[in-house]
Amino acid sequence: MQIPFVDLRTQYHSIKTEIDRAISNVLDQTAFVGGKYVKQFEADFEKEYGAEHCVSVANGTDAIYIALKMLGIGPENEVITVANSWISTSETIGQTGATPVFVDMEEVYFSIDASKIEDKITERTKAIVPVHLHGQMADIMKIKELCNKHNLYLIEDCAQSHFSEFKGQLAGTIGNVGTFSFYPGKNMGAYGDAGCIITDDDALADRMRMFANHGALKKHAHQIEGINSRLDGLQAAILSVKLRYIRKWTGQRIANAARYTDGLSGIDGLTIPEVRPDTKHSFHLFVVRTSQRDALADHLKGQGISTAIHYPTILPLLPAYDHLGHNASDFPVAYKAQKEILSLPMFPELTVDQIDHVVASVRAFFLE
Ligand SMILES: *Cc1c(COP(=O)(O)O)cnc(C)c1O
Repeated sequence: MQIPFVDLRTQYHSIKTEIDRAISNVLDQTAFVGGKYVKQFEADFEKEYGAEHCVSVANGTDAIYIALKMLGIGPENEVITVANSWISTSETIGQTGATPVFVDMEEVYFSIDASKIEDKITERTKAIVPVHLHGQMADIMKIKELCNKHNLYLIEDCAQSHFSEFKGQLAGTIGNVGTFSFYPGKNMGAYGDAGCIITDDDALADRMRMFANHGALKKHAHQIEGINSRLDGLQAAILSVKLRYIRKWTGQRIANAARYTDGLSGIDGLTIPEVRPDTKHSFHLFVVRTSQRDALADHLKGQGISTAIHYPTILPLLPAYDHLGHNASDFPVAYKAQKEILSLPMFPELTVDQIDHVVASVRAFFLE
């Protein structure tokens, strides 16, 4: 049995008629950039999230950059974020000219350790960018309190947490802005690059929309120099179709995670994910930990099972951040995790047989 890490084809085939029709409508109307399908998707996403504004952009990286930039963050500022994430979270801070200030992660939930944030706040700090990594909510209410206390902006990086919740509140609706990626492999994936930003702040929404479209809200009325970061009509039409299925797919991910958890509990030397109390984890990834990580990955590969590592090197230790002069002992929890984490196959269409094959193969590795 071959089990891919993600399987985008099965999902496409399950909604092929609707997707193909949506694509052909866009082609027919040549609504390629901007236009009615983009407006429709923004309205659909606003409705699902109960947000005042959805500003669609070209990808999830730009979503963070545009939000930071339009919140006024620049070279004189510091922005606090987590040591373990995808580089978009920190490179966008650098793109504004500001300095990313990394904080270690929590041992169990893989999110920024809120108890270590306050020590890093200085006069220059202007914002905190927590990541709801793997689909697991960060300690978001504690972080929000810190933001209120120190007058900082809160930008939730929701690239991996579509429809995750804290006490019924959706990820992305708690901070000043929530940023989303619709990269094909994300929980809600387009068929190319795509992203969006949600906010309830009218003025900020206008500024972000303007900046993403060459600094103009109306054609040729350039108020500022901006960038070109727009959602295209094909991706918008595809995303509107997928939005109708995303809650079902999230439920399937959660059910798959539950079956993994059942099957993989109680194995000596293997740590499985724990869901933070009062939250809904949307299981973008199912990440296990073991000191025998590389051997386990090899063993699973031999059983036809693809795995991945998210991420092999924590951000502060990447060559891109050599200039900050960090070393592993600055982030002991994240550094230890980096050597132990392994992401098992996770997608809504995983079958019971596939999950059971992964479980049996993992058990065999530890118990034989
Ligand atoms: C994928 C991802 C992004 C960036 O999204 P793109 O659409 O690929 O630009 C940002 N942050 C995190 C945590 C991600 O996983």
